[in-house]
Amino acid sequence: ENYLSYFDTKCKGSKALIEEARKYIPGGVQHNLAFNYPFPLAIDRAEGAYLYDVDGNRYVDYLQAGGPTLLGSNYKPVTDKVLEVIKDHSPVTGLFHEYELKLAKIINENMPWVEQYRCLASGTEADMVAIRVARTFTGKERIVKVGGAYHGWSDQLVYSLHIPYTKTFEAHGIPSELSANTTEGYPGDIESLRKVLEENERAGGTAAVLIEPFGPESGTRMAEFDYCTKVRELCDEFDALLIFDEVVTAFRAGPGGAQGYFNVRPDLTVFGKIVAGGFPMAGGIGGREDIMSCLAAGVQAGKKRAYVGGTLTANPLSCAAGYYAIKEIVEQDAARKAGENGDKLCAGIQKLIDKYELPFVVWNIGSILHFEVSGVMYLSVTDPDIFKKIPARQHNIEKFGAALTANGIITLAGSRIYTSMADNDDTIEETLKGFEDVFQNIER
Ligand code: PLP
Repeated sequence: ENYLSYFDTKCKGSKALIEEARKYIPGGVQHNLAFNYPFPLAIDRAEGAYLYDVDGNRYVDYLQAGGPTLLGSNYKPVTDKVLEVIKDHSPVTGLFHEYELKLAKIINENMPWVEQYRCLASGTEADMVAIRVARTFTGKERIVKVGGAYHGWSDQLVYSLHIPYTKTFEAHGIPSELSANTTEGYPGDIESLRKVLEENERAGGTAAVLIEPFGPESGTRMAEFDYCTKVRELCDEFDALLIFDEVVTAFRAGPGGAQGYFNVRPDLTVFGKIVAGGFPMAGGIGGREDIMSCLAAGVQAGKKRAYVGGTLTANPLSCAAGYYAIKEIVEQDAARKAGENGDKLCAGIQKLIDKYELPFVVWNIGSILHFEVSGVMYLSVTDPDIFKKIPARQHNIEKFGAALTANGIITLAGSRIYTSMADNDDTIEETLKGFEDVFQNIER
């Protein structure tokens, strides 16, 4: 617990701000990822691989805003272009503009199965719209999602989300009938998924299976390499659409997203985060032209339409940010570079785990790296009793995350790291030093 003195002595500015904020903002902060132990840091700015707090402390930034900044934070070539667009064209007009087309086209060039693309406000909205479109197109109602997966916080999809930080709100404010058509299988367990699809056949069939291709929570619970192929085969057998939630993996898993990485064709793809290049309004869905035509604006005779709206959706600022970010990501080979940084970091942490003989697990898929104090999530991909073990894990990761922060490393909830193109040998060395300090001081 000696790391706690760091927060008392070095973070006085943050502490004063959060104490005042608690009066005006419920809980003091607006963002779930800012709800940190022992108190949230007030961040002054983010630049490349680093974050700076209001007390002038510098941190290696592995939160990367939750994933959108694959190029590193405030990446100048993109920021400058976006500022130009705002200056020259206004951030919002409510009408068609060229950047909508540029964004849809560059996504299609890199992810050819995304034949058409429609902008939305967030990943949450995009997941919500994806299941609405699937229901419209197929005329069926049931949606199958996998236990522990995160598909945003809409009424239908957040229900029975089995991850520790959100577990407490699952039951509140959501009418139970809304989730009636959302069935869950266990991650990676193809047989349980088949069973769910068979049961659904007796109740009108399945409109779509919605998965995160790397496994629930961006691979926090890992799926086997051929998982997506097997799910695709099942969807074909049961005439259900396959929806990939690529909110995290699009452009991070490679220019072709997770669908390119696994070479598996989804019918619809859900986007977020990187599609606005670290700027606001990051969301969209794309896919087969015949399915996407349900979203055509205006009324077309003879077409079934899934209604969506949004005053600020597809605004020039977000579309330009997404377009220029994707262009840079592809030209700079950012996913590969960020992935190599993830590989180096993972190997370094593994060495330390071995050196100190800790009951600790680390694994990565390119730039997405997970670590577990107990290994509970990692070891129990198909273990339905996993959820009974979660409180212990939550307790540990909170303190582990705080100890890392006191060593100048910011992670996502003390259990995940997003590397970016801005990381380099220096930031990795700095990070490994921090991990070693924390590992040395772990009470056993
Ligand atoms: N789907 C996945 C896989 C996510 O990781 C997230 C957010 O972290 C979402 C959906 C929701 O996206 P948003 O936060 O933009 O609503």
